[in-house]
Amino acid sequence: MPAQLHVTAHQSLALPLITLFLIGLILLAPACRQAEPEPARPNLLFIMIDTLRADHLSCYGHERETSPNIDRLAAESILFENHYCSIPFTPGSHWSNFTGRYPHNFGDSISEAAEGVMGDAPVMTLVLREQGYRTAAFISNDMVKFLGGMFGHFERFNERQYRKKHDTGFYQTTNAALQWLDGNTREPFFLFIHYWDPHAVYNPINEFDLWSEGLEGNQREAALYDGEIRFVDTKVRMLLDKLDELGLDDDTIVVLTSDHGEAFGEHDGRDFLLQKESTYYTGHYKGLFDTETRVPLLLRVPGLDGGRKVNSVTQSVDLLPTLLELLVIGNERTIDGSSLLPLINGEPRPDSYAFSEMRKRVGGRTVLSKSIVADGWKLMAIESDEGEVLRLHRLEQGEDQNLAGVEGPLAEELRQRIHDLTDGRVMEEEERDAETLERLRSLGYIEDDLQ
Ligand SMILES: [Zn+2]
Repeated sequence: MPAQLHVTAHQSLALPLITLFLIGLILLAPACRQAEPEPARPNLLFIMIDTLRADHLSCYGHERETSPNIDRLAAESILFENHYCSIPFTPGSHWSNFTGRYPHNFGDSISEAAEGVMGDAPVMTLVLREQGYRTAAFISNDMVKFLGGMFGHFERFNERQYRKKHDTGFYQTTNAALQWLDGNTREPFFLFIHYWDPHAVYNPINEFDLWSEGLEGNQREAALYDGEIRFVDTKVRMLLDKLDELGLDDDTIVVLTSDHGEAFGEHDGRDFLLQKESTYYTGHYKGLFDTETRVPLLLRVPGLDGGRKVNSVTQSVDLLPTLLELLVIGNERTIDGSSLLPLINGEPRPDSYAFSEMRKRVGGRTVLSKSIVADGWKLMAIESDEGEVLRLHRLEQGEDQNLAGVEGPLAEELRQRIHDLTDGRVMEEEERDAETLERLRSLGYIEDDLQ
C-alpha cells in the first residue's frame, strides 16, 4: 500500500542547516510574520545523468577510474549503495523521481506527461515553486518533447537541446546552467541538469576514450561507455566548482542520480523472454536485471557528515519525500516511497525494499515485468500471453542463476509482496501518436518486430 508521508515542522532532524531554518520559523511566527523576511532555505542542485549504472562509477567499486570528480562529491555525500529506479525508461523514471510514485500509479507516461496531467501527485518542481523557489532545467537531449509537462513546470528551461554526442560542442548544457547560476543566487533555487552522456551511441571524445583499445563486442562497448562517464564526470566538477566559487556550498543540497542503467549482454534471453539465444540484453528497457535498475544516488547535505554509505535497499520514489523532509516542506498527498532521513541518521529500516516495473511490446507480445529487491533477494515476475516466469536471485551471487525452482516458497512470498504493494495494479497501455511511436522505436523502447 502506498505510504502517506506527513512531514511537519516540529520533527526533530538534528541537522544544523534545518535547525537554523526551524529556529528562524519560530522566531518569525506568528506575531512578526509580516515584518520580518523569511529565513533562507537551502538550494537544490539536482544532477541527473542518463543511463548511468551504479557499478560503473569508481565510488561504487568499478575497477576503472571513471569518476574522479563524482568520487570527490561522494566523499562529501551520503552514498546509497543499493538504490533502484522504478522503471528503466527515461520518461517514466523521471516522473517517479519527481513525484515519488510508481509508474503503475501514473501510467508509463508520455502522453499524460506531455499534457502535465499527473492527478493529485506532488510534483517536485511545482511544490518548490509554491515555496518560492526559482526553478530552472537544463537538458542535453530532446526528451523535453516527451517530458513537456515536466519541463514546462520550470520557470526556465533551455529551449535548445543537444541530443547529439558530447553535448554537441561538449559543454553547452553545463555552460548554460553555470550562466543561470551566476544570475540567480539571491533567492533559493531548484536547478535541474540532465546529461545525455553516457547514453548510446557510445563515442567518447578521444581524450576520454581510455579503455577501448584492443577490445571487441560488448567489452568494447562497455569500455566506450566508461569513457563517456569519465567525460560527464568533468561536467559535474564544473557545477560543483561554480557552487564553491559563488559561496553556495553551505546553502545547497546536491543530488546526483540516474534514471536507469545499461546492459552489455550480461544476460542472454534464452531462458524466458525470447526463448532462444539472442543479444537482447544490451541497452535498457529490456528487463529488470540490476544492470538496468541499480543506479547511483549521492546526497550532499550541508551540515551532514559526508563519506558515509547506506547499505539498505532504497528506490527512486524515496527521493521526493527525502527532499521534502530535508527542506521542511509538508505534504498531505500520497507518495509511494518514504523518506531516507532515518537511514541517513543511522536508524535501521528493516523492511527496506525496492520495486521496479515495465511494460513492453516484444516480438508481438505484451510483456509485463515486475521486480522486488528485499532481504538480500531479488524476484523478477515476467508475465506475457504465454504465462508467467519467475526468476529469483540471491543478490550476492549475481543474477545468472535462477533459484525460483529450489526456493519456491520464498519466490511465492516475494511474488505476493509485489501483489500487495501494487494492489494487483499494472501499468496501463497508453495511446501514442505516430511520431512518438517512431521515436520510441528508434530508441529501442518498442521492439514489436523482434522475433
Ligand atoms: Zn534514460
